Amino acid sequence: MAEGGSSEMPPPEQPQDPESRGSGGERDDDFGYGLFPERSRGGGKKQQSMLYKAVFTRNHKCQVMLQIALESSPYAKLLLDAMKNTGCTVFKDRHFSCEECDGCVSGGFDSSTSQIVLCQNNIHHQSHMNRVVAHELIHAFDHCRAHVDWFNNIRHLACSEIRAANLSGDCSLLNEMTRFKFGLKQHQQTCVKDRAVRSILAVRNISKEVAEKTVDEVFESCFNDHEPFDRVPHSRSDAKYAHRDFQNRDRAPV
Ligand SMILES: [Zn+2]
Repeated sequence: MAEGGSSEMPPPEQPQDPESRGSGGERDDDFGYGLFPERSRGGGKKQQSMLYKAVFTRNHKCQVMLQIALESSPYAKLLLDAMKNTGCTVFKDRHFSCEECDGCVSGGFDSSTSQIVLCQNNIHHQSHMNRVVAHELIHAFDHCRAHVDWFNNIRHLACSEIRAANLSGDCSLLNEMTRFKFGLKQHQQTCVKDRAVRSILAVRNISKEVAEKTVDEVFESCFNDHEPFDRVPHSRSDAKYAHRDFQNRDRAPV
């Protein structure tokens, strides 16, 4: 439900079949490898600890960027306030998890645990972190406010992906310009459709045609559903105003 959805665990390693080892075969399997045991073992250890350090550093960096996103991104702040009002308070430690992911996935929403996965090996900049956090928080918001059937109803998934692409800044003009797509007519619609289809294909084994058809079917209503924003936040300052108005909407006497 993401730019990639939650990562799947790799299949467990196949146990070695003792029969396949055979008996009486040439014992040439260690030929050449036992020559420098200290060297290879030492190198292995060193590599392992370097890998551990790299992962540890990435995890720490991810946590820091997440904290900054939650404290300073107006998209995240509005979504966190809205979720609190809906009775789904989000806690940084419980609902976010920085992890190593496969491929070029940036994040995902795991509806079974209500956790947002942030791919620490693929998010390198604060602006990217802000967008991923906003995108996944929209899935979390949808999960909280509606009974979303993520797995059996592809229209539900499509709708949330449309909203996430439309409202998270994924398709803001600046992002698009850096992708050399500016000047495109109706670029927001095109960008949102395109990203929604790609997000669905990342987590569901269906054809591109089916994904496009589903997105088209629900597009109109989901594209125009801006909740909890009162507008499409095309920029950080749009989101800031939306947040301010959201807070005032809340305070307004009934
Ligand atoms: Zn998504």
